[in-house]
Amino acid sequence: MVELISLSCNHCGAPIDVPKVSKFVTCEHCNSRLKIQSSGSATYTEVLEVIEEIKERNDEIAEDLEIIKTQNEIERLDRDWDRWREKQLSRDEDGNTHEPSTIGSIVGAAVIGVGGIMFAGFSDGGGALISLGAIAFAIIFAIYGINHASTFNKSKRRYKRERKQLVRRLRKAKR
Ligand SMILES: [Zn+2]
Repeated sequence: MVELISLSCNHCGAPIDVPKVSKFVTCEHCNSRLKIQSSGSATYTEVLEVIEEIKERNDEIAEDLEIIKTQNEIERLDRDWDRWREKQLSRDEDGNTHEPSTIGSIVGAAVIGVGGIMFAGFSDGGGALISLGAIAFAIIFAIYGINHASTFNKSKRRYKRERKQLVRRLRKAKR
């Protein structure tokens, strides 16, 4: 024999007897679809629409949170990048800033080398030594500059890649 439990409809209050193993029931009085809920020792019915509404609302809240979280992450990423980038920039005499670049480093090294050699040509005595010094300094300048540009460009690519992923996640959450 099926064991019945006596419950009441959560919508109209009509009494309903439900097989103990049931999870859902339809109220014979008002036709509401009911889910049988258990909480501790209490068993009661809940209208399905209400449950679905709550679930939908929860999903919406989760989506909103995901959007806010992702927006915050994008802001933080931009802020960190700007702060780091600012430290890597060089400034020329006109106050314009430049990102580290391979070409810039080579041009800079050439200016130093050629300038040093020209200066050596005008000086009396020790010209060869000054030229060698200028060339050595130009080479060190170029190596440092090229390394710096390479590190900078790698970081820039990583920043752009991470940002793109976050923007994609944000777009997905907003859909
Ligand atoms: Zn009912």
